[in-house]
Amino acid sequence: MPRLMDGASANGERAFAHQLMEMLAIPVFVLDTSCRVMIWNRACEHLTGVPASEVVGTREHWRSFFDEQRPTLADMVVQDRAGEIPSIHPRQGYGIPSGQPSHVSAESWFDMPRVGRRRYLAADASPIYDERGRLAAVVETLRDLTAEKMAQIALEQLAIRDGLTGLANRRCFDDTLQAEWSRALRQRQPLSLLMVDVDNFKAFNDANGHLGGDECLKRIATAVASEMRANDLVARYGGEEFAVILPNQSLKGAASVAERIRTRVEQLQVPNRLAAGQRVTVSIGAATALASPDTSASDLVATADAALYRAKHMGRNRISLPQSEPA
Ligand code: GH3
Ligand code: MG
Ligand code: MG
Repeated sequence: MPRLMDGASANGERAFAHQLMEMLAIPVFVLDTSCRVMIWNRACEHLTGVPASEVVGTREHWRSFFDEQRPTLADMVVQDRAGEIPSIHPRQGYGIPSGQPSHVSAESWFDMPRVGRRRYLAADASPIYDERGRLAAVVETLRDLTAEKMAQIALEQLAIRDGLTGLANRRCFDDTLQAEWSRALRQRQPLSLLMVDVDNFKAFNDANGHLGGDECLKRIATAVASEMRANDLVARYGGEEFAVILPNQSLKGAASVAERIRTRVEQLQVPNRLAAGQRVTVSIGAATALASPDTSASDLVATADAALYRAKHMGRNRISLPQSEPA
């Protein structure tokens, strides 16, 4: 009789624990020692869009998180593979257990195929041992940190982006130019730079107001950016001046990019009320260097600047190359 009562109370406790987990506001699932889902609580249903009825008793829980088959943290603890977590979540924090499977955690983006929207989740997986010290189950809890992650990304973007145009800002330009200069030096490749300056922009502002000027700068920024390849960088260098870094680009190649930018801006056909029929245009100075230890990135900027000055001097709405006739 007492044994029966013990059994009954044990069952009761298990049911209570199960119910407790069900009602937790934190998404939780539990795997048995063969990686089958024992518990998939309501918050987990809500997070993944997958009902418990579909997943409990199966090993298909990965489908709730990933597009392609990958073990969850809980799987890795069950299989005593926690040491592999860094290769699966390479950029994220994790805790590596020592010896016996123990608590591990990781953060990363999850595909969430059923909800159709990626989420940034923090996962914690903890083993549960029976009274004889044998692994009985692994419980995984999840926290949705998507909002925090997005805020962090937005902050990082803020530090390197120009607020008006969304292009890289001056700081980002300086850092990138240094990095590209070092790379060009290492790889013995040419590095090209364009300095792009809006013509008669003071007059444009005078005629259209500062806000009208801002709109014009945004349109020019988009036009310049549309001519970039994947490894190029276009930045807002200063007020109405843009700089374009063209890694591994010859002077001839840089001149052709410059000409495309010049034409593209002209084709925007933004009227400049300075004179009837005039459109907003840009002048561009180009420079190319084969990086060497006794020159620096600032020499490249100075050469492109000098070329820009010549383009202005020769009448604007043109490109100019170092020590050459304007193209
Ligand atoms: P140039 O053809 O020789 O380049 O003549 P410019 O009038 O473009 O050159 P200048 O350097 O005399 O004037 C630049 C103008 O750009 C003056 C400044 O008010 C304007 N400007 C700089 N930054 C901004 C900005 O963020 N928004 C607006 N609307 N205007 C800006
Ligand atoms: Mg200027
Ligand atoms: Mg100007």
